[in-house]
Amino acid sequence: MTKIPHLVLATHNPGKVKEIGVLLGDVVEKFSSAGDLGLPEPEETGTTFAENAILKARAAAEASGLPTLADDSGLCVYTLDGAPGIYSARWAGPEKDFQMAMEKVNAALADAEDRRAAFVCVLALAHPDGAVETFEGRVEGALCWPPRGPQGFGFDPMFVPENEVRSFGEMTPEEKKALSHRVRAFRKLQDFCNNN
Ligand code: IMP
Repeated sequence: MTKIPHLVLATHNPGKVKEIGVLLGDVVEKFSSAGDLGLPEPEETGTTFAENAILKARAAAEASGLPTLADDSGLCVYTLDGAPGIYSARWAGPEKDFQMAMEKVNAALADAEDRRAAFVCVLALAHPDGAVETFEGRVEGALCWPPRGPQGFGFDPMFVPENEVRSFGEMTPEEKKALSHRVRAFRKLQDFCNNN
């Protein structure tokens, strides 16, 4: 496998840079974030995870002249037609209040019997010539109430992955990693890089 010599990570979020940076070790020689390079952040105007990941990756690839990776992710609740989906971060408002966002999801579910949900992550790898590849990872599960556990972030405390009894909020980072939608998308990216 040839490692990508220099990859730009199309995010200004230091948490994502850290989390994704660890996963990139096998795939790239060196990476910089869009934040490090002072690249502008495009508006997420897409209607799907893939569209948003592609528009973020393409904008950074055009501005930097380097291959670029972007991700878009969220929680999709089946009986809510996939909401909050691409709007997952926005449901937490400007204060990023996920306790409130989880309460909104639970209220929207009301007394629905079907509490199935999935976390979805799409990675887009864009090249300066405009070519782009996408990789999707997902983990199926169900929503519990009240939220449980201090670990993780976002909607983790109310999400119980399939075949598990604990929520992501009750799992260690290593346990979550073994099931995570983001890690699953990364494995597909790694396979692609290994074969190209
Ligand atoms: P993004 O930064 O636009 O990809 O927004 C992702 C949003 O989806 C986050 O702010 C969380 O609300 C939610 N999300 C994505 N992945 C996870 C996860 O692993 N656990 C909990 N929430 C997640």
